[in-house]
Amino acid sequence: MYTITVIPGDGIGPEVMGAAMYVLEALNIEFKFQEARAGNDCYHETGTTIPDETIEMAKNSDATLFGAVTTVPGQKSAIITLRKAMGLYANLRPVKSYPGVNSIYSDLDFLIVRENSEGLYSGVEQETEEGATALRVITRKASERISEIAFKQALKLGKTRVTAVHKANVLKKTDGVFRQAFWEIARKYTEMDEYSHMEVDELYVDAAAMFMVQDPHRFQVLVTTNLFGDILSDEGAGLVGGLGMVPSSNIGDNNGLFEPVHGSAPDIAGSGAANPAAMILSTSLMLQFLEEHQEAFKLEQALLKVLKQRKYLTVDLGGTSTTMEMAHAVREIL
Ligand code: ATP
Ligand code: MG
Repeated sequence: MYTITVIPGDGIGPEVMGAAMYVLEALNIEFKFQEARAGNDCYHETGTTIPDETIEMAKNSDATLFGAVTTVPGQKSAIITLRKAMGLYANLRPVKSYPGVNSIYSDLDFLIVRENSEGLYSGVEQETEEGATALRVITRKASERISEIAFKQALKLGKTRVTAVHKANVLKKTDGVFRQAFWEIARKYTEMDEYSHMEVDELYVDAAAMFMVQDPHRFQVLVTTNLFGDILSDEGAGLVGGLGMVPSSNIGDNNGLFEPVHGSAPDIAGSGAANPAAMILSTSLMLQFLEEHQEAFKLEQALLKVLKQRKYLTVDLGGTSTTMEMAHAVREIL
């Protein structure tokens, strides 16, 4: 029995969360779901976008599911606060094509591992006389731990190559640290028997961006710093069918939080048009994190079938079904 903290959030967050939980109930696993609040509606009712109680619940459960929140400029970002409090330093974004979904490539399957705690998103900016500066923080420790995650994920997913992405020719000091840490971890891991078959290489981020469009099949696991990872993972999402399809994991040493890449989409909230796939796939990532690989696979296969049939799809996928009708089709298959 797993205790799962569920944070539906705002806009389409509660809609896709409801759909995903409806599907989860059909699996052979017992969950104890505990609902917690965060986001803009929560702010209006409680005066904070993320109550301490929510953070405590998330920290003390086996995993957390997060829908989406609307972040109003000036308010504290609920998701960033939560990632920090839970020590979630790695953002994993699978780039995967699904049959039946209109996309640029129909056969992609690679993983982007993005460092999520430092880099250019450290939030240290300063106004200067001429304009402004931002501080790019790269530590050996964070570079090593993200590289380790990349190798562990590669092994878990049966991948045989890990590629570091950086710009060490220009950002000599910061990406020099990242690059060196990566190669040290690569050496350590490829000396172990289970990892000895893995290829290791590196690319400059500009070249990686080009290859992702021209020859993405060369990628298996990419590992990179915060900003580069943010940009490359949206590029990856664009290759495989867009926002409604892309899940993500945020993981640390003891915790995992799983969320769709899309936001709260206030423009379609309440209309039943939200595609539940990204949230359902996020729950599948959660099951993998909990080492429930068989159930994760079953869930993904059921969704795949629904996509392939093209009978119960939401409007963004070219269908006419509602969020719950699509979820119901997935549950029927399970
Ligand atoms: P937020 O401020 O919470 O990020 P947003 O307005 O940026 O919200 P997103 O959720 O990031 O909205 O999505 C951008 C657009 O993509 C929206 O206009 C929405 O119509 C569409 N979209 C996002 N998610 C989905 C989904 N699950 N199903 C269908 N369409 C979606
Ligand atoms: Mg958005």
